Amino acid sequence: MEERIVEIEKFDNDETTEVSLRPDGWNDYIGQPQLKKNLSVFIQACKKRGDSLDHVLFYGPPGLGKTTLALIIANEMDSNIKVTAAPMIEKSGDLAALLTNLEEGDILFIDEIHRLSPAVEEILYSSMEDFRLDIIIGSGPAAQTVKIDLPRFTLIGATTRAGMLSNPLRDRFGMSFRMQFYSSEELALIISKAAQKLSKPIEEKASFEIARRSRGTPRIALRLLRRVRDFADVADELSILHVRCKFALNELGINAHGFDEMDIRLLELLISAKGRAIGLSTLAAALSEDEGTVEDVLEPYLLANGYLERTARGRIATHKTYDILGYTNPNQNQSLFE
Ligand code: ADP
Repeated sequence: MEERIVEIEKFDNDETTEVSLRPDGWNDYIGQPQLKKNLSVFIQACKKRGDSLDHVLFYGPPGLGKTTLALIIANEMDSNIKVTAAPMIEKSGDLAALLTNLEEGDILFIDEIHRLSPAVEEILYSSMEDFRLDIIIGSGPAAQTVKIDLPRFTLIGATTRAGMLSNPLRDRFGMSFRMQFYSSEELALIISKAAQKLSKPIEEKASFEIARRSRGTPRIALRLLRRVRDFADVADELSILHVRCKFALNELGINAHGFDEMDIRLLELLISAKGRAIGLSTLAAALSEDEGTVEDVLEPYLLANGYLERTARGRIATHKTYDILGYTNPNQNQSLFE
């Protein structure tokens, strides 16, 4: 088998410098049960038929395991995988170079696929559908279309913004999966498996403590685990104890509900509006963030856990948020769901 080509851009420094905590098979991939079940059926069926896998789209907030799934698929299919991200494919020629270097059955993983330029996207259509590259050389009356046959490859796309994909692109994926936030139980399991890999056992209560403060996201859970381990190492402790873990998380300023500093700023802004809704653009401006980050990175966790409501007029904090942050709800007697 050929060597795997993996260009990994977005991985945390931590992840590249030390033991990799990335699962390489289904056994280590915790959570997302429905997705796992369906995907493994499709993979088995393709292997049985000796086919390449249909194009796959994963969408959902960052850090939930989209890239990891692409790597697992490659492993299961025994395929080479090339990992890239849309901002790295600036011109049609960049994509053409990537595609013509693929071999039969290879996987091309494009992260942030919603950020492809229209010209690049256009080339992807015929490549995905007919495994043919249509390139226009020159311009004006002398322009010529050159057709190049491509090997049957699988495109795996990942995006935090399914809504920003154009319909023709979305339609060309044979399968699309929405990623779910992880439960505390699932995150605690991910944490204890990772701790084993780091040769630093962790008390069960400590893994739950980290899990509860990780915004339902494995990437955050693993980052916190490494930081907590630093505290245990400095204290010369052979394992991560619950008391040390609580101390470390407090020192790191990690809120008991899993909110980070940005979540708290956002929720406090909503609370300061005294029950009035705030529109997305106002919210983004007040936080000095772009609207995309607010919608894709900050809001999904808060929405999924009932800390935030989206109404026709804008965003409002829920009763739960007022309670947790210790404020009195001005809409006390009024349902927020009206
Ligand atoms: P995304 O591509 O969605 O941003 P990644 O695939 O890069 O997320 O995952 C972030 C980190 O979380 C990786 O280090 C990976 O090891 C870990 N991870 C993600 N999902 C899982 C899972 N289901 N089980 C165990 N570890 C996971």
